[in-house]
Amino acid sequence: MPQSSASPHSNVAGCADCGLVQILPPASRGSIVECARCGNSLGRSVAGSIEVPLAFSASALVLLVPSALAPLMSLVSFGTQRSNWLPSGVEALWRDGFLSLASIVCLFSVALPFLYLTLMVCVLGGVRLGSSARLGKLFRWAGQLRPWAMIEVYLVGCCVAYTRLQDVGTVHIDLGGWCLMAATFSVLLATVTLDEAAVWDALPGRVAPMRSRRALTCDACGLLLDADRERSGCPRCGARLHRRKPRTLERTLALVVAGFLLYVPANVFPVLSIERFGRNEPNTILSGVRELIASDLWPLAALVFSASIVVPLVKLCGLSLMLLLTHRRSQRWLVGRTYLYRFIDFIGRWSSIDLFMISILVALVQFGNLTRVRPEAGAVAFAAVVVVTMLASRCFDPRVMWDATETAE
Ligand SMILES: [Zn+2]
Ligand SMILES: [Zn+2]
Repeated sequence: MPQSSASPHSNVAGCADCGLVQILPPASRGSIVECARCGNSLGRSVAGSIEVPLAFSASALVLLVPSALAPLMSLVSFGTQRSNWLPSGVEALWRDGFLSLASIVCLFSVALPFLYLTLMVCVLGGVRLGSSARLGKLFRWAGQLRPWAMIEVYLVGCCVAYTRLQDVGTVHIDLGGWCLMAATFSVLLATVTLDEAAVWDALPGRVAPMRSRRALTCDACGLLLDADRERSGCPRCGARLHRRKPRTLERTLALVVAGFLLYVPANVFPVLSIERFGRNEPNTILSGVRELIASDLWPLAALVFSASIVVPLVKLCGLSLMLLLTHRRSQRWLVGRTYLYRFIDFIGRWSSIDLFMISILVALVQFGNLTRVRPEAGAVAFAAVVVVTMLASRCFDPRVMWDATETAE
């Protein structure tokens, strides 16, 4: 996500959230420059803005290798020990015939974190070494992958699974688990210390001086360009240039409707079933929360309830409100709506906690006829809700809310 859209020729920037083109004041070290209209961060000055995130990204990538190869946690129950690796949840879902669920868990928890960190190490390492060939395209891909590389969400899913497994037997955190914690911590530090604008500024591309007063901001890297370059490729990151995201209202509406339709089966049907001594106990998302409350695990119950039930609903209702008010060209709560959009876009990926928890329980709790956990159809609908709502917030262009008021009678 481009936070800043500073032009390499001047200190003029176009806000990615409200579209306002403005002159930026010089940023002092450690300060953040905010959009004058919607409060979006347009740039900040961070010391060591390439080397520090490079070091954290490289250490996270190295730590991910033992996280994937060594067991994360072990469960001892009924005199048997079972261990869970990063890919074992994927394997268990695949074995039970839930191919779509296995693919989603594999992408979000294993493949995309590896790919994202590899891209970041290549880009930041390349910038540090003074190279810029093709790095713009790689950095754009890294930015687009970031929301889908859910290593920190997976770790929280592990914590929820760890707590729920206490009822089944004794749980130990193994070497892979400690490495996963360290890798997640490194990823978070890399994200916090990364100054995207500084990286983009180090990748200037070939930009002609602006001739007209009508400006266009690249969605991917935030470069400010002449409006007549629409539909051509961005000279810095290679993305197709559009004044606004194409068909943003229609695409968002279609995804929001699909999200509402999927939200019902995701909450009504069981997401997993526990077989204890031949007796089958189906579990919905809500009954999982009730179980946590019954075990006096209130903070965890609140976390799962918020992430799995409240967040998808807030996203769907929030985007519906934005679509409706934009359609009516309303000026109501414009700044508030833009803040809500940023919140929705940021929080959406955290709904996957339950999905990862299910994959871990399915892999670990396999004790034949004594106790075993199986995934159920509700989990597929729930995964679809997560993906569809994330795509909806990605497709929505908040600048159209501001455009609608400018053209209002
Ligand atoms: Zn703004
Ligand atoms: Zn660009």
